[in-house]
Amino acid sequence: MILGALEAGGTKMVMAVGNEEGEIFERKSIPTETPEKTIPAMIDYFREKRIEALGIGAFGPVDVREGSKTYGRILDTPKIAWRQYDLGKNLQEALQVPVKVDTDVNASCLGEMTFGDAKGLKNVIYITIGTGIGAGVAVNGGLIHGMLHPEAGHILLRKSPKDSYEGKCPYHKTCFEGLASGPAIEERYGKKAWELAEDKEVWELEADYIAQAMANYILAFSPERIILGGGVMHQTQLLPIVHEKTLDYLAGYLNTPQLTNIESYITLPSLEDNQGILGALQLAVMAKG
Ligand SMILES: [Zn+2]
Repeated sequence: MILGALEAGGTKMVMAVGNEEGEIFERKSIPTETPEKTIPAMIDYFREKRIEALGIGAFGPVDVREGSKTYGRILDTPKIAWRQYDLGKNLQEALQVPVKVDTDVNASCLGEMTFGDAKGLKNVIYITIGTGIGAGVAVNGGLIHGMLHPEAGHILLRKSPKDSYEGKCPYHKTCFEGLASGPAIEERYGKKAWELAEDKEVWELEADYIAQAMANYILAFSPERIILGGGVMHQTQLLPIVHEKTLDYLAGYLNTPQLTNIESYITLPSLEDNQGILGALQLAVMAKG
């Protein structure tokens, strides 16, 4: 079976062709411009490969409710050219194959659960900490959609008394994304994150915010695994501090084997940054049915 996978991001579109075993035969990236420019290029690519189904992991907010009249539509994104654009429907009509759409982070979560270290687990959270913060959540083996889809990057956190930064989120100021995304780090210190790599206090504070979020997700969803992806997590000094502080915030309230062995409970992605495209591939498998 030849399947198409699309990781639709705000800056680039990653297209790939593969099979249900998770083998990627080839891939191509193009910049995300306007739909008028970008969509025909994607249609040409997938049409030539004669794909039998297409899975899409898209930047959001996006309508992921199957059966909805606007299924696969990009909603009120800050990327104005894509606002209210029928991504799923237009690709489906042009390619005449089944299409399944989910959020980019739900796709990454699915990729890790199907082909990565989280294989066999049914309750998994995938978080990306980069330009923004997003979370994909699987409960009882299914990706959560609900009213729309989780926006767990915008949960409200307790601001550190040591932190005088006002917060980056245009909606909530000091939500998780507003305090801990890459742009928040840069604006707080006036430097790029990688320039701050040696500065201990920067990562103590960053880990504190991430750990608050971890404690909230653990208490709310009882996941069996949490995977932390995204550019900020490339700072390898961060994860051990997150482990320690997450346990501090939980304060002994929960006592499970996973928390006793937190290094294998809150982990980095296992698929070398292919989790998103592999998740989209698995969405294509599901679309094919
Ligand atoms: Zn926010």
